[in-house]
Amino acid sequence: MGEAWGAENHFSRPPLRYSAGMTTVLPPFEPGAVWLVGAGPGDPGLLTLLAVHALAHADVVIHDALVDPRVVAMARPGAAIEAMGKRGGYGGAGQGEINARLIDLAGQAKRVLRLKGGDPFVFGRGAEEALALAQAGIPFRVVPGVTAGIGGLAYAGIPVTARDCNSAVTFITGHGQTGTLPEGVDWDGLARGAPVLVFYMALRRLDEVVERLLAAGRPGDDPAAVISRAATPAQTVVESTLAGIAAAVAAAHPEPPALLVVGGVVGLRRHLDWWQPC
Ligand code: SAH
Repeated sequence: MGEAWGAENHFSRPPLRYSAGMTTVLPPFEPGAVWLVGAGPGDPGLLTLLAVHALAHADVVIHDALVDPRVVAMARPGAAIEAMGKRGGYGGAGQGEINARLIDLAGQAKRVLRLKGGDPFVFGRGAEEALALAQAGIPFRVVPGVTAGIGGLAYAGIPVTARDCNSAVTFITGHGQTGTLPEGVDWDGLARGAPVLVFYMALRRLDEVVERLLAAGRPGDDPAAVISRAATPAQTVVESTLAGIAAAVAAAHPEPPALLVVGGVVGLRRHLDWWQPC
């Protein structure tokens, strides 16, 4: 870490007040630093205090395609807003270009907020961005966010763990760097290894994912759901079984971004579907 963090005693600053009666001390957003911040799956109410603080102080906000527009709109008036990031792995700026932009802006002594959907370190290439910053000697901070695979499930009334269902959960990406199924996945181990499987980037290769799981011995009557645009006003959930989910999705054609969840916890949705569009 560079001077920017070491030299500063964060706690010597007056506490920041976010609402009447609530005070807390948050680190200053120093010029020349990059904050890599998770924006959660959609609902701005899921932002952390650090994310709100960063939005209030950033000079430049560089957000990826997943960040909800309501969150981007919370940026400080006068902040420059740039959209950078691929949608579903396609289009948009390349990763090298994004890394270079972050480093360049920090070099200009800007407070740079790199805002990423969900959690920056969950299937979002945040690790690559942090590594590029570390290599360039740029001071940075990582602010975790609510990842879609946990928070998005909760908004669909599906607990990611429940005592009577599962004591393990696996998070998997539905496609790898080239858009095909991810390389090096042990499908036999995956199908048998965890009672609950949560797939990110689930739509494009849904049929193949389902086929692989069934071929590997996962029961066709295992409950399954596809959650689309979770925690946004457009949230939809398609519920079926593993054997039936591909046809159900083909009929309902939910939009990306979407998650696939397989396992007994999906059955709890019957009791826990609390969410209402507003
Ligand atoms: N860093 C993100 C994940 C990035 S990968 C996170 O932690 O959530 C992109 C995938 O995340 C999408 O293809 C989808 O599977 C999932 N995703 C992100 N936001 C979502 C949302 N609001 N609803 C459903 N899935 C979402």
